[in-house]
Amino acid sequence: MQLTNKIVIGSDLIKPAGESFDVLNPATGSLLQSCTSASSEQVDLAIATAKHAFTAWSEQTHESRQQALLKVADTIAENIDELARILVLEQGKPLQAAKNEINGAVAFTRFFSNLTLPHETVVNNDEKRIEVYRKPLGVVASITPWNYPLMILIWHTMPALCAGNTVVCKPSEYTPFSSIKLLEYIAKVLPVGVMNLVTGRGEVGAQLTSHVDVKKVVFTGSIGTGRAIMKSASDTLKKLTLELGGNDAGVILPGTDFSKYIERIFVAAFKNQGQTCAALKRLYVHESQIDEVAKLLAERASKEVVGDGLGDSTTFGPVQNRQQFELIKSLLDDVRKTGGEILSGGEPAENGGYFLAPTIVNRAPKDSRIVRTEQFGPILPIVAFTDLKELMSEVNSGEEGLGGSVWGDDTEQAIALAKQFETGSTWINNHGELNPMAPFGGCKMSGIGSEFGQNALLDYTISHSMHISL
Ligand code: NDP
Repeated sequence: MQLTNKIVIGSDLIKPAGESFDVLNPATGSLLQSCTSASSEQVDLAIATAKHAFTAWSEQTHESRQQALLKVADTIAENIDELARILVLEQGKPLQAAKNEINGAVAFTRFFSNLTLPHETVVNNDEKRIEVYRKPLGVVASITPWNYPLMILIWHTMPALCAGNTVVCKPSEYTPFSSIKLLEYIAKVLPVGVMNLVTGRGEVGAQLTSHVDVKKVVFTGSIGTGRAIMKSASDTLKKLTLELGGNDAGVILPGTDFSKYIERIFVAAFKNQGQTCAALKRLYVHESQIDEVAKLLAERASKEVVGDGLGDSTTFGPVQNRQQFELIKSLLDDVRKTGGEILSGGEPAENGGYFLAPTIVNRAPKDSRIVRTEQFGPILPIVAFTDLKELMSEVNSGEEGLGGSVWGDDTEQAIALAKQFETGSTWINNHGELNPMAPFGGCKMSGIGSEFGQNALLDYTISHSMHISL
């Protein structure tokens, strides 16, 4: 299968003129296809094209932009099979999970198309009237990661477009081809230049984040890159939405009848092979129940069929890239040195693909690296506790603050504990489930700003107060 190796500027697919980099298939570790980066001049051209398109797009009625988003949703839905196949080849996830991601992208696009911008009259008397409008910002740069390449691109761009901005996207160097194909379809149903895409590595991202004509950057990825983007955007004081990593904790309340939650806990930890920003990354269980919880989770883990995402029976794909795989392997080496019992998985494949079966580590020491580091892979450390009151300082001790969960039958007790999490979201008897109505974002080093809900639109606008003397 030949994958489109182009950038999208205006409505045209253009041959990129920069350097090439290899995109690997994570199920084999071998070359999928080479991808060419946009040249620096082409990045400038993409920004100039988006800037040019902004005037007409921002002047369209909100309703016509809402209709345009619905066309985007339709075209994604019509091309789901092709998009899903490309996603599996470069990202690794099983075909059904790829389709779920794309269906999610369609559903979110439809949700965003329903949002409207507020127009308020805040003062209204005989002498004056003050009205507050919301105005789009201009060109928005979207920089996306490799874990949910298509879904996150849609989360970034659809609210931006709906609010009247135009966009330049840069997908991760690990997963560019599914985004190129997505843009190929989307660009056909949108006015020329409204949505553009450039390929490339971090340097291309850095060019976008420092460019004077980019008014906002929306980024999902690592904390380190988030910091770099903030520095780079500071000269031109760009608006930022940064959705960064997390090391989410879950706590099972002592005495809980936990067997009914095992399936949800498993999914929360291992969805997308654990490569999810708000996955459950450390589970705290009372000393009296930890071994039984770990046993049930390990039994559940053993049911997964690990393999190539295009395999008929595969339910669990590879880790997405070599760098991530090496991190996971080093964390496993650490477990073997510092303690913790590996009850399932634990044996990284040596056959070229980046495979590791879902790995349950029971009784991980609370200060061990596997507990303190965002693994972003198929490992769940389970940590024993005895005192719930003391536990919260441990739960909140890291630099991240994305999500957290409490599991238990006493909802009031669970809510009381959940309120103590220093995170942007908490779940009771669930973890990581996102809803387009609820704002999603991080505390502490997990990010700035939030996505979804009404914020999804407002964060791509500035307020404009009009003071009318009568
Ligand atoms: P990065 O944060 O490095 O990359 C994410 C995106 O940012 C990619 O498109 C990347 O391009 C781009 N980028 C890299 N450097 C710059 C820069 N200086 N300026 C602008 N854009 C830049 O993530 P990694 O892929 O390296 O993953 C590393 C870690 O990040 C993971 O271990 C995980 O902890 C975390 N992560 C978190 C995610 C989340 O959902 N919150 C998603 C993915 C990763 P390129 O790929 O070409 O380098």
